[in-house]
Amino acid sequence: MIWVVEDEKKIGEVIRQYLIDANYECRLFTSADGLLRQLEIDPPGLIVLDRKLPGIDGIDLCRHIRRLRSQIPIIMVTARVEEQDRLDGLQAGADDYICKPFSPRELVARVATVLRRGPLQKQTALHIDAANRVAKVREQALDLTPAEFSLLATLARSPGRPYSRDQLLSAIQSEDRDVSDRAIDSHVKNLRRKLSAVKQPPFKIAAVYGLGYCLKAID
Ligand code: CA
Repeated sequence: MIWVVEDEKKIGEVIRQYLIDANYECRLFTSADGLLRQLEIDPPGLIVLDRKLPGIDGIDLCRHIRRLRSQIPIIMVTARVEEQDRLDGLQAGADDYICKPFSPRELVARVATVLRRGPLQKQTALHIDAANRVAKVREQALDLTPAEFSLLATLARSPGRPYSRDQLLSAIQSEDRDVSDRAIDSHVKNLRRKLSAVKQPPFKIAAVYGLGYCLKAID
């Protein structure tokens, strides 16, 4: 099931129809109303999210979704093309973005690409259960603090992609009120220690010089 969140009903309907024609199940939301609640009940496999919605910024909504359901792929639809807008979307946790105007066919192709990247566990043997806040590596549950869980869930969204300390800080802020750059380093240290207890860990948390950290698969 794919959700399309688009307040311009005509555009939303066109996208929906193209996705249905491509054999996806699709549901259209014309506002954020009810979306977060529905997300708890029956989450979709992917969300196409318009950046400009009435009442809420798509960036903020993207962050909310990430907090509730960390693994759902999100494609941000934006009318802006500035580098900073692109970065805003990615920093808020979007997996990809597409600029208006786009052809519906292009969007369908993008959806297929993001879905093809496949579930994370394929790449890292890591399973993140955001609803129950449980992380498993090779079927072994890790005993993590809430902040460590959020940190790992954030890094796990895009293995190989570097996350800055600031991004990681904002990911754990709801769990850890008194956070600093240093706190990220110490959470990472603890996470690494816990991961090292797993037999043949399939990935590691690598430092990215001058920036922060990323999740790296171990071959
Ligand atoms: Ca809009």
